[in-house]
Amino acid sequence: MASGNAIRGTRIGSGPARFIERGEPAPRQFISYWCANDHETRPSFAMDVQPPETWDCTRCGLPSGPDREAPPDKPHAKPFKTHIAYVMERRSEADGAALLEEALANLRRRRGE
Ligand SMILES: [Zn+2]
Repeated sequence: MASGNAIRGTRIGSGPARFIERGEPAPRQFISYWCANDHETRPSFAMDVQPPETWDCTRCGLPSGPDREAPPDKPHAKPFKTHIAYVMERRSEADGAALLEEALANLRRRRGE
């Protein structure tokens, strides 16, 4: 192969490094988060990244959320909300009772068979 020497001229490994040096920074999105103390934190994320629902406040460390009117609860209240908790919050108590009643009825029916 006559072209062997020419290929050897480019060192393997130099390509990727140069690419990173010259690469333009990826476009970023800035998302505002507010904590319960009304501190704003504005982390940036890559455009193709789904921003997290909460972010730790850089000033006081409390969890912050994108909704300024409804910042996340302080940690000692409820650090983690399950999916069920959200569902239960959205439903009225009457709905919840009806659903529970229905579930119990189904259970009794199944047991009766
Ligand atoms: Zn804060």
